Amino acid sequence: MKRREILKHIGTTVGAVALGGQGIAASTAAQITKRKRVLRIAHITDVHIRPEENAPSRFQKCLEEIKQHNVDFFLNGGDSILAADYNNITRERVNELWQIWHETTQCINQFEVHSCLGNHDMWWAAPDKKDVMYGKDYVVKQLGIPGRYYSFNKKNWHFIILDSNNGNAGSLDEEQRNWLEKELEALPANTQVICLSHYPILAVCTHVVGGNHTDSSYITNLFYKHRDKKINCLSGHIHLLDNADYNGVKYFCNGSMSGYWWGEGDKESAGKYYYKETPPGYAILDLFDDGSIKNQYFPHSY
Ligand SMILES: [Zn+2]
Repeated sequence: MKRREILKHIGTTVGAVALGGQGIAASTAAQITKRKRVLRIAHITDVHIRPEENAPSRFQKCLEEIKQHNVDFFLNGGDSILAADYNNITRERVNELWQIWHETTQCINQFEVHSCLGNHDMWWAAPDKKDVMYGKDYVVKQLGIPGRYYSFNKKNWHFIILDSNNGNAGSLDEEQRNWLEKELEALPANTQVICLSHYPILAVCTHVVGGNHTDSSYITNLFYKHRDKKINCLSGHIHLLDNADYNGVKYFCNGSMSGYWWGEGDKESAGKYYYKETPPGYAILDLFDDGSIKNQYFPHSY
């Protein structure tokens, strides 16, 4: 292909990935000139905040950098803390992790942060199920969200926040399936939807064990029933940059803030702090009035 043809070809793909600051335009040239940006959102995921590795101050530098993008608000894709879910995690450790989360996110207090639950956020090892720190309710409280799943509107966009952390992770439980079905049913045709989950609903990286939602086909079938809406999905969990386009729905898995959990990496890391080939980073999403979306991943150097 000649250069011009290649550019034309790239121009027809929707969704962009920017590595090292080099972006690829998300839509056709004609759209770019006509469409108007209505929202700019930061999507951070898998922060896995911890006291070690100087992670708190490195995370704060990332947040300061994100603020330079002039975003309207934040979506936080879960696994906010390193890990509360292992059997040996103490109450003191869980408290410490959430305290660091609150301290480090102080600098974005002026922004709305809409979070979802990650599999590592819940303390299942609490001595008693009645313990205030046990399970999902406590995480919901820490993150200041209305529930383990919920929805809200911004401009002409509808946001659906899912809880992937059920029985056969990641999956939706029966109660949430019923809710999601009614939720989509209630939306008029052409509604622009952003759906945030921790686990990818559909990822290309299927070689990653425990990567995708185990009920992907239920969700993709449901989305196909609602193909009169413009649905875009965001996720994290696998710490890999990955995107898929299936039946007109876009699935962006936006790497991770912590890369190799803030550590330097292992022999499979393509660079310092990388998880496999994906550098630590965050995504900036531009949402346009025509329902199109531009998703750019920005690796960070902290
Ligand atoms: Zn996870």
